[in-house]
Amino acid sequence: MIKSIFDSYGTPILIGLFAILFLLETKFRLRERVQSRWKRIFINFIVSIPAFALLRVLFIPSMVWLAAQNQQWKFGLNHLLDLHPWLILVITFVLLDYSNYIWHIMLHKIPLLWRFHVVHHTDLDLDITTAFRFHFGEMIGSILFRGVAIILIGASPLMVLIYEIAFEAASQFHHSNIKMPFRLEKALNYLIVTPRMHGIHHSIIKKETDSNYSIIFSFWDRIHKTVRLNVHQNEIVTGVPQYANERELTIGNLLKMPFTKIHEWKDSERTFDENVNQMKQ
Ligand SMILES: [Zn+2]
Repeated sequence: MIKSIFDSYGTPILIGLFAILFLLETKFRLRERVQSRWKRIFINFIVSIPAFALLRVLFIPSMVWLAAQNQQWKFGLNHLLDLHPWLILVITFVLLDYSNYIWHIMLHKIPLLWRFHVVHHTDLDLDITTAFRFHFGEMIGSILFRGVAIILIGASPLMVLIYEIAFEAASQFHHSNIKMPFRLEKALNYLIVTPRMHGIHHSIIKKETDSNYSIIFSFWDRIHKTVRLNVHQNEIVTGVPQYANERELTIGNLLKMPFTKIHEWKDSERTFDENVNQMKQ
């Protein structure tokens, strides 16, 4: 099933999407760059290789295996509800996304997990290649958490694969540096996470990073009041304040970063506007 769904459909879709978004962000840039684009492409792709390998050989097979086992155990919400199969598919998709919203908050709030997630946030620019800049340790942690979520929800192997493809596509989209027509983005943002919304999550201001945790659907942040849209994109400085020295952010340092002493977040000031729900250009 992994071969027929993920490899035959998912991978070409994700590669095609990458090519389109890459070209769009080249032509319509949202935020100014502070680093050389090609150097970042190189660093982010090398850092992503172990994480990608783990995704394909360990993460996806173990999630699908667990979901298949659970079809026999019949554990989880979907096995308790006697609903139409289509409705079950929708509920599963939405709840898998909710579990990833919670996981993303845990990555920020639990010091052991932040050690790994910080590697992703040290990127000094934000674009589609940031979507690949994850430490492989984060991938291992997510196997445990997402495995539990799959069991509790009672997700089927097919839904696990469909959600995974959608998750990767959404991550490419919201990390991209594409300047979309403002009204179109505002309309899309009522339902899904968009580049401006996620750009605020990568700010060096703590209050801004501590917002916009959603992955696909943006309403999790609205429901939990963790949404913040009132920041102009050209006011955002991307990164983590204590890791702002470009020369220290080498491939070697990024890979060993979780095993070193993690610097505390020292904030700079910004006056906050009250209306957090008002998206700004
Ligand atoms: Zn984050």
